[in-house]
Amino acid sequence: MKWDAWGDPALAKELSADIKGLLAAALGVTGDAAPGPSADEVVLHPSRLSAEDLDALAGAVGKEHVSAADADRLPRAGGKSTPDLLRRRSREAQDAPDAVVLPGSEQEVAAVLAVCAERRIAVVPFGGGTSVVGGLDPERGGLAAVVSLDLRRFDGLLDLDETSGEAVLGAGLTGPAAEELLAERGWELGHYPQSFRYATIGGFAATRSSGQDSAGYGRFDEMVRGLRVVTPAGVLDLGRAPASAAGPDLRQLFLGSEGTLGVITAVRLRVHPLPAVKAYEAWSFPDFATGTAALRAVEQQGTGPTVIRLSDEAETMINLAMTEQIGGAPAVSGCLAVTVFEGGAAQVAARQQLTRDALLAAGGTSLGEGPARAWEHGRFSAPYLRDSLLAAGALCETLETAASWSRLPALRAAVTEALTGALPGSLVLCHVSHVYPTGASLYFTVVAALGEDPLTRWGTAKRAAGDAILRTGGTISHHHAVGADHRPWMTEEIGDLGVRILRAVKAELDPAGILNPGKLIP
Ligand SMILES: Cc1cc2nc3c(=O)[nH]c(=O)nc-3n(C[C@H](O)[C@H](O)[C@H](O)COP(=O)(O)OP(=O)(O)OC[C@H]3O[C@@H](n4cnc5c(N)ncnc54)[C@H](O)[C@@H]3O)c2cc1C
Repeated sequence: MKWDAWGDPALAKELSADIKGLLAAALGVTGDAAPGPSADEVVLHPSRLSAEDLDALAGAVGKEHVSAADADRLPRAGGKSTPDLLRRRSREAQDAPDAVVLPGSEQEVAAVLAVCAERRIAVVPFGGGTSVVGGLDPERGGLAAVVSLDLRRFDGLLDLDETSGEAVLGAGLTGPAAEELLAERGWELGHYPQSFRYATIGGFAATRSSGQDSAGYGRFDEMVRGLRVVTPAGVLDLGRAPASAAGPDLRQLFLGSEGTLGVITAVRLRVHPLPAVKAYEAWSFPDFATGTAALRAVEQQGTGPTVIRLSDEAETMINLAMTEQIGGAPAVSGCLAVTVFEGGAAQVAARQQLTRDALLAAGGTSLGEGPARAWEHGRFSAPYLRDSLLAAGALCETLETAASWSRLPALRAAVTEALTGALPGSLVLCHVSHVYPTGASLYFTVVAALGEDPLTRWGTAKRAAGDAILRTGGTISHHHAVGADHRPWMTEEIGDLGVRILRAVKAELDPAGILNPGKLIP
């Protein structure tokens, strides 16, 4: 992963002539932004760890698994939000973890936590490094120093129970590595967030991630059957049976805990046999309201698509401009919806027919397979476009929320108004990304001229959007999690008593307060 951009440098995306034309016409962006520093030119604040601290950490994990070198600290200095990327490109001295520690067993994680509690060192668990909410900020929280605890050595398929359809996966496995290990045995997890190629099993659990196939296979937290978590107070092994009435479900405390309560080392997950058949169908709707009502009908009737999503008019137009780059989908007007179906042949045919009936009845027009296949082909490429936009002088950032169906129109209007109010002249795109019987998630993309001081301008826009979300009945995050960026809204989200409960749990599990300070819990 590039330290100052998304993904693999070889997959960097050129802006098409259409997109360049749109940028110039809509935002007045025609030039290139000033290039950022090279990795060698970046200045990090020096490590605050003493030689004794480093020796103690080496005692826990072995000398070769501790590094205070800038080349290791820089890639763990934060996540991959646009503000993260802008901060990485700064020529001012930057914050970074004081060292990187790579444990290889639960005993080593426990030993690192003990060293850090004794020496007052904060610990930021690090999975794939794809957080977009400041979840990896190297915050010391009043302690002496901070280390990044990289989980990449937890990379095994530890068990596959083919009778029950359950797999135990190491927390440090990336999405592709997990799917490869399962596919060798004929199984699939089916969790495909846009960050799939880099994000990890532990990170998915710690952030309650949601993938693009969540209509069919569920959110990541719905796939979790069990968790192993190392905390400063001891190890927890949660989830004994497919369902249980033995009190509150403690797994829920760690799903979404974002490294503040413990370190997830392994996750037991529901898996399914690789699908025999896959079918695609794209749809057009005259407007977003009609399309949204159609998706609601599908979800409430339970017709069973694996993927279903709907873009608004502006996003449909941009997708079209991008789709041409990846090869030839038909022109689409109005709002584009994509459906994909997976499973056995008869099951797929039946589900597709039921979904087709519901979408036709709700005013949709079938566009055939093409645009749906094109969407799937390009579904992990969009983040590369953000880098090209930044390089061309345009700020591009996303945010997401969810609410019940009845509240979605007001929520969408309020967020759009908040964003365009704070960033006049910006382009705001929206899609329905995840659906539930009672509501859906809205995902916004904002493109604006980078201009002077983009970090402050985006901060103002983000505050306005967050306030609008809470005011209109949405959640501050449907799947990106809370981190540092959404923490200011947590009291409003869960109430003062809710915050006190989280603080009490943290005090019990992490009495020295070493685990990921400044995130999630106000
Ligand atoms: C381009 C892009 C697209 C994205 N698309 C999606 C999407 O479609 N759906 C979605 O849900 N999210 C998406 N995200 C957000 C992000 O990828 C998810 O939050 C992901 O789950 C984070 O996983 P990770 O392994 O990278 O975790 P990291 O970013 O490394 O960490 C995230 C948080 O979890 C904690 N953590 C990580 N591993 C552990 C562990 N083993 N134990 C305890 N705490 C841990 C960290 O301390 C941090 O607070 C996207 C991000 C980017 C940059």
